[in-house]
Amino acid sequence: MFTMCQPLRSKANLVMLFKGYRRFVRTTCRVSIPGGSLGNELKAPPRFLRDKKIVPDADPPHKEDIHKLYQLFEQSKRLTILTGAGISTECGIPDYRSPNGAYSSGFKPITHQEFTRSSRSRRRYWARSYAGWRRFAAAQPGPAHTALASLERAGRIDCIITQNVDRLHHRAGSDPLELHGTVYTVMCLDCGFSFPRDLFQDQLKALNPKWAEALESIDHGEPGSEKTFGMKQRPDGDIEIDEKFWEEGFNIPVCEKCQGVLKPDVIFFGDNIPKERATQAMEAAKQSDAFLVLGSSLMTMSAFRLVRAAHEAGAMTAIVNIGVTRADDIVPLKISARVGEILPRVLDVGPLGVPAV
Ligand SMILES: [Zn+2]
Repeated sequence: MFTMCQPLRSKANLVMLFKGYRRFVRTTCRVSIPGGSLGNELKAPPRFLRDKKIVPDADPPHKEDIHKLYQLFEQSKRLTILTGAGISTECGIPDYRSPNGAYSSGFKPITHQEFTRSSRSRRRYWARSYAGWRRFAAAQPGPAHTALASLERAGRIDCIITQNVDRLHHRAGSDPLELHGTVYTVMCLDCGFSFPRDLFQDQLKALNPKWAEALESIDHGEPGSEKTFGMKQRPDGDIEIDEKFWEEGFNIPVCEKCQGVLKPDVIFFGDNIPKERATQAMEAAKQSDAFLVLGSSLMTMSAFRLVRAAHEAGAMTAIVNIGVTRADDIVPLKISARVGEILPRVLDVGPLGVPAV
């Protein structure tokens, strides 16, 4: 009796799991259509479906602020820019700390320690990241990225440092120092071998055909639409996904050189920036005659330290960010505005050597 029931039960579980998955996908897909309703099967929207704006509210930039920022670009001979998540929220990639950011809904990003110590945490991270990758990779640079690339070409910017891992500066034509690394590279924790994320996505797809099939079969929605997959995306490419789907049956590739553990080449919370990279950023900050922060609350010490060093070295310092920052007390010019709104307006003020489009 037992030997006969056991395989049957296992089979039933497998079928149910997969059916549940399909149903889940269909349900969430339905609400991604504008004007669609949740239907009767759910009593209340789950947390990941709460309708939240990605970009925090801000008034249009003041004329006075636009002129002050213009003067900073005009007067500086050696300008260093530090960009944070605020510059990417305008492209549909949510941040952590703004009023509408991921933290506001109770999200906790994975720490380096969790990732390295727990295979369960790694499975959870990669499952969500895999599911969200297509949308994350489809995000396009916004007006702020484009304006900065133009200013860089015109010789108005000496160095761009970014805390973002999304490569949107690159797509706009800049080549910033990526303080926290990038999710576009995957590296082995054991031997250091690194390779492109696209290749890793292919490996994940091959190892998880049912996931791939489910993801392929749904409409991915527009980049920037918060309801893609009916799940919520995070700044590091991570995405919220129902626990039962990643806990069972999600397989992670290992390093092809040494069978070691693979990790995105990003600095998770609790990890340190490689010394050489930190030094390079610090040198840029100290040698600048102006240091401008765009879209960062500077809550991570590695970013705050740079502004403080520039300030102490006598550089002009300024911040454009919605909401408080850690450096509000030491920086003389603080502007509350959307970076993507104010930078194009700065370019309109006068000749900064940027050719008109
Ligand atoms: Zn390896």
